[in-house]
Amino acid sequence: MDSSLPQRILLGPGPSVVDPRVYRAMSAPITGHMDPRFLALMKDVRAKLRRVFRADYEVTIPISGTGSAGMEAALVNFLEPGDWVCVLSAGFFAARMADIAHRAGARVHLIETEWGLPTDPERVARELAGKHPKVLAVVHGETSTGVMQPLEPLAQIARDSGALFVVDTVATLGGTPIEVQKLGIDVCYSGSQKCLGCPPGLAPITASERAMEVLRARKTPVQSWYLDLSGVEKYWGSERAYHHTAPISLIYALNEALNLIEEEGLEARWARHARNMAALNAGLAALGLEALAPPEYRMPMLATVRVPAGVDDARVRSRLLDRFNIEIAGGLGPFKGKLWRVGLMGSSSTEANVLLLLAALEMLLAEEGVMSARGAGVAAAQASMTPEAVHA
Ligand code: PLP
Repeated sequence: MDSSLPQRILLGPGPSVVDPRVYRAMSAPITGHMDPRFLALMKDVRAKLRRVFRADYEVTIPISGTGSAGMEAALVNFLEPGDWVCVLSAGFFAARMADIAHRAGARVHLIETEWGLPTDPERVARELAGKHPKVLAVVHGETSTGVMQPLEPLAQIARDSGALFVVDTVATLGGTPIEVQKLGIDVCYSGSQKCLGCPPGLAPITASERAMEVLRARKTPVQSWYLDLSGVEKYWGSERAYHHTAPISLIYALNEALNLIEEEGLEARWARHARNMAALNAGLAALGLEALAPPEYRMPMLATVRVPAGVDDARVRSRLLDRFNIEIAGGLGPFKGKLWRVGLMGSSSTEANVLLLLAALEMLLAEEGVMSARGAGVAAAQASMTPEAVHA
C-alpha cells in the first residue's frame, strides 16, 4: 500500500514546513550512537544550539521528545516535593506547566491572566514581594492566544526573588530575539518543529550553572529517570556515557536545520518572521478579521483572529486543507470553534504563503457570506511588502 502523505502548506502553530535539505539529512545512514563521527556531530549541534539560545551554558541538549518533554525536563529537574513555584498562566501551555509542577509535588502559585492578554509584571512583583519561590515559570509565546510575553521585567523579578527563571520558547526560538544569557534566563527550552524548521521529536534545552547547582543539591532523585538532566548530560557532555539511544536521524535533521539558520543568519531570520507576520496581520485585518492579541504583544510567528459570527470554523478549515492544501489551526480551550491560529514559522514564513493564504481565505469567507472588497487582504499584505514599507 502506498503510504505517502500529501505535502501540505503548514500554516498552523507547528509543525512548520520542513526544508528539503533537512529531509535529505534525515535519510543519511544510521551510525551507532557511540560512533565517533556521530559524537562529533553531537558536539557541533550543541555549539549551534548555544548560538540560537544566545547562551554559552554548558548544559545545552536536544532532549529526546517533543516540546512537552522539554517543559517537563525544565520543571522536574529543579522542583522537589514541597518546593514553591510561581507559574504565570495566560493560556493553554502555561496551564500544562502548572500541571507538570503539581505532579512533581511542588506547591503551585498561579498568577492567572485572561487568555488573550499578557501578564502584568507589576502584579507579579506585588504578589511575589518578600517571597522566595524556587522557580518562576512563564511561556514566552503562548500559542493558544498568540500573545508574546515581554521577558525583561519578569527576569528582574525572578532575580530579585532569587527564583530560577524558566522560560518556554517552544514557539518563539529562532523566530524572534531571545537573549537567554543576557536576560538571565536559567532554563530555556523549545521544540524542534516550529521556528527551528525541523520535524517534531526534539526539545532543545539550555540550563545555567546556577540551575545545575540547584539540580546537584537536590535531596530527592528527579522523579523522571529519562529526563534527569544529570544523566542525559553524561551522554551529551564530555563523559559520553550511554544514557538512552539517541534519535539519530532526528539529530541529523536538527543539525541541518541549524545549518540553515546559520546560513540565513539569526537576525535575518527574526526580521523575516516579523516582516511576513506584519504583512499577514495587515491582510487579515483588511479581510475584516478581528485579532485577539493586542498589537504590541503579538507573536511574529503566529496570528490569532476570531472566527466571524455565522462562519463555520470547521468547514472553512477543511476547505482550506482540501482545496488549497493549507493547514491552519482552530482554537484551544475556551477558544475552541472561535479562533483561527495562523502560523508563519521557520520555512513556512514566506511572502508567497502570506499571499496564498489571504487569497484562499477571502474566497472561503465569501462562500460563508462574509464579503470584503475583492483582493483587499492580498492588497494590504502587498502594500506592506513593498521595499519602501519593508525599510520604513
Ligand atoms: N509550549 C508551547 C508554547 C507550545 O506551543 C507547545 C506546542 O504547541 C508546547 C509547549 C508543547 O510542545 P509539543 O506539542 O511539541 O509537545
